[in-house]
Amino acid sequence: MKLELPKWYDLHAHFRQGDVMPHLVRDHLAMGCAGILAMPNTAPPVAKVFENDDLPYWSIEAYTDMLKKAGGDKFSDIIVPLYLTKATKVAAIEAGAKTGILRACKYYLFMTNGVFRAMEEAGVVLCIHGEEHGMAAENYFDRATNAEEYFYRERLPRIVEKFPGLKIVSEHLTTKVAVDFVRSAPATVAATVTPQHLLYTVGHLLQGLKHHLYCLPLLKFEEDRAALRAAVIAPANTKFFAGTDSAPHAKKVTECGCAAGCYTGGIAPQLYAQAFEEAGADLSPPSSRTPKAEGSQDSRGDSSSQAPRNDSHGFRAFENFLCRVGPEFYGLKIPSETFTLEKTPQDVAALSVGGEHIIPLPLGMKQKTLPWRIVQ
Ligand SMILES: [Zn+2]
Repeated sequence: MKLELPKWYDLHAHFRQGDVMPHLVRDHLAMGCAGILAMPNTAPPVAKVFENDDLPYWSIEAYTDMLKKAGGDKFSDIIVPLYLTKATKVAAIEAGAKTGILRACKYYLFMTNGVFRAMEEAGVVLCIHGEEHGMAAENYFDRATNAEEYFYRERLPRIVEKFPGLKIVSEHLTTKVAVDFVRSAPATVAATVTPQHLLYTVGHLLQGLKHHLYCLPLLKFEEDRAALRAAVIAPANTKFFAGTDSAPHAKKVTECGCAAGCYTGGIAPQLYAQAFEEAGADLSPPSSRTPKAEGSQDSRGDSSSQAPRNDSHGFRAFENFLCRVGPEFYGLKIPSETFTLEKTPQDVAALSVGGEHIIPLPLGMKQKTLPWRIVQ
C-alpha cells in the first residue's frame, strides 16, 4: 500500500540551536515537511521580534536565519512564534504582524497588558501549552483531575470568551476534557496532537519506566487516548492537526536522561499512520479499492489488530489531519509537491551528533522497526 500525500507542515516542533540544528532540520525535510513551526523556547528564548530591539533575547529574525542556514531554506515556510514575556510590548506585536514576520506567539505566562488584544486585532495566532502553572503535586496529576483538565475547565474558556477573535492553538492535547473543549469551542480554537499521545497511555510510560516517553503534558489514560484518536480520525475533523512536539535530547542532558520531550524527527508521518491504523482507520487510498470491495472486510490491505471500523474515510481523514487542517488554520498554502508513505517496515536508527546519541521515540520504546516508511 502506498499513500501519496501533499507535503505537510509540522506545526509544533523544537529545533534547538547550535550543532544539533542541521541534523534536526534534515530529519524534518526527510519526512516530507514543506514547512515548520519552530518553538521559541531556546536559550535564550526567542522573545523579541526584531534584531534591533534591545531586549536580551534572540529575535524571530535571527532565529529564522539560523534555521535557514541550518538547511531550513529548503522549507517553503518557517513560522517562529514569539515567546511571550512580561516585557512583550503591544507595539512589537503590531509592528511584527505588519511586516508578516510575526504570525504566532507562544504563551507561557498569563498576559494582562493588552498583548492578547493586539494579537486578536493583528490576526496573530496564540499557541498555548494548556496546563495550569504551579499546582501542588497532589493535584497536578490526580485520579480526579490534573493540570491540563484544570486549564481547559477554568482558564481557556475565559480567554476564548474575552477575546472571541483571537485564533488559539491548544498545543499537544492529552485529555478527553481538552478534546471536548476544543471540539465545542468556536472555529477560532484548534489543536495539535502528537504521535505519542495517539499511540500510548501513561501505563506505557510507567511499565518499565520508559523515560524516552516522558513528555509534557504527561500521557494520560485510555479514555483520553480514545478521545484523541476519535477526534483525529473523524471524517469531519476541522480542528485537530499534526504538531509533533518533536524535541531532541542527548542522553546525558540530565542524570537520569529524563528531560521532557520525545524525538520523532524523520518518522512522524509513519508514527501517525501507525496510530491511525491502531485506532481502526483503513488507510488504503480510494484508488486502490475496487468499488465492490469498498468498505468490506476483504478490502483491508493490512492486518490492523483492533476492532476494524471498515472506515472507507480513513485515508481522507489521515490526509486531512496531517496535511490540511493545520495549514488551513494558519492560512498556509497546501503544497502541490507530494511525498509518499509506504506500508513496508523501516528500521529506526539513533541520531548521532558530536558523539552524543538522540534516541527516537520508538527505539526508546524497544520498537526497532516501524510498519510504514517514507519513499522518495
Ligand atoms: Zn513543545
